[in-house]
Amino acid sequence: MKIKSVKFIKGVVREDALFSDGTPQIAFIGRSNVGKSSLINALTASSVSKTSSFPGRTQEINVFLINESVYFVDLPGYGFTRVAGAGKQKIATLIDTYLFHPDADQRKIVLIIDANTGMTEQDKSMFDELQSRGKDFIIALSKIDRMNQSDFHHRLIEVREFAGDHLVFPCSSKSKKGIDAIVDHIFSNLS
Ligand code: GDP
Repeated sequence: MKIKSVKFIKGVVREDALFSDGTPQIAFIGRSNVGKSSLINALTASSVSKTSSFPGRTQEINVFLINESVYFVDLPGYGFTRVAGAGKQKIATLIDTYLFHPDADQRKIVLIIDANTGMTEQDKSMFDELQSRGKDFIIALSKIDRMNQSDFHHRLIEVREFAGDHLVFPCSSKSKKGIDAIVDHIFSNLS
């Protein structure tokens, strides 16, 4: 599957977080700085998603239309440390509304975990929440280019063990390893 077009559609705030127009939605969620923007850019072979070395800067949900047929929904990162109290709560509520409202309508969710740090407590609680709400989600294990083979294999086993039935895709936005496999998985499970 090739991504031929990618278009920014809109930034979404809480009041319209539950948009639904029949176009399938693929949501991307992860800890701030996990490499989410870089991953969306790599998947779409574009630079639509803003990458930033300032965690927590993106405080909206950004919606991109892919191949005129699917939305990639870029959620704000969780676990941000540099956003003050009220802002932090606002982002948490926005994520929560989009993902877990009874009318939420994602076809699939991509939970991004940094391979170098493994699953943090916040990652585990997001995993548990997605699981307990019966969400269809996969794990993208990011930044694997930064690891040596041995550490990578241990981490992969550890995360796969935790993930159970949920597929784990090791990937690197830098080397592009694993990127095609994620695109193929997303598109082959759409119809
Ligand atoms: P976001 O906050 O989750 O959207 O993360 P970004 O995509 O902005 O990336 C955070 C930092 O990690 C940036 O400095 C990126 O250059 C770096 N990064 C992201 N993906 C990779 C990767 O696959 N490999 C390496 N080595 N660095 C990465």
